[in-house]
Amino acid sequence: MIHEPKWKLVNRNIDHGRVSLSREDFSRILEEAIRKRIEHGLPLAVPPEICTSLAQYLEDIRNALTTRKSEFNIEEFKEIMPDCFPPCVLHALSNVKAGVNLAHSMRFALVSFLLNIGMNMDGIIELFKVSPDFDEERTRYQVNHIHGATGTAYTSPSCATMITYGNCYGKEALCDRISHPLSYYRKKAWILKKGN
Ligand code: SF4
Repeated sequence: MIHEPKWKLVNRNIDHGRVSLSREDFSRILEEAIRKRIEHGLPLAVPPEICTSLAQYLEDIRNALTTRKSEFNIEEFKEIMPDCFPPCVLHALSNVKAGVNLAHSMRFALVSFLLNIGMNMDGIIELFKVSPDFDEERTRYQVNHIHGATGTAYTSPSCATMITYGNCYGKEALCDRISHPLSYYRKKAWILKKGN
């Protein structure tokens, strides 16, 4: 992914303002630039007759998108399955349990992930009680804010965001098949269920 640390300028060879790239990296950057260029040009003005001829394909894409969105349906997770937590979440939880303070971005990622899989606010606040700077009122306020007044929690950050903020720890084989910690959770649950 283009967010990985290897792409950051501090990790590249720079000589008099020029960044050296392998042929492979150069192709990857070109690919990304082309993707952005196309995305920035959207939406295009499409003639009505083309819209009509693409209607069936658009319907298929809309259906696929609805299915994908439903993958993140918070209601769907009925029970908490700690065996299915992704490595980044396990790492954050072990830090919390060891009394290590989490960075703000990781705290947000952890709380939103736990809310998304259906853990209740009191359970999450209980987890943070061992933090060295634990302040129940402040923690409750923060968790409540992420939970949202309407009870619709923020969706936890994607793997790309986790990598950008240095919160992706312990990446393993399954991580290569997903792009979101919630997808890891879902896939792992499916794999474990299939194995039983
Ligand atoms: S790849 Fe994603 S799920 Fe895996 S550890 Fe990194 S952030 Fe977590």
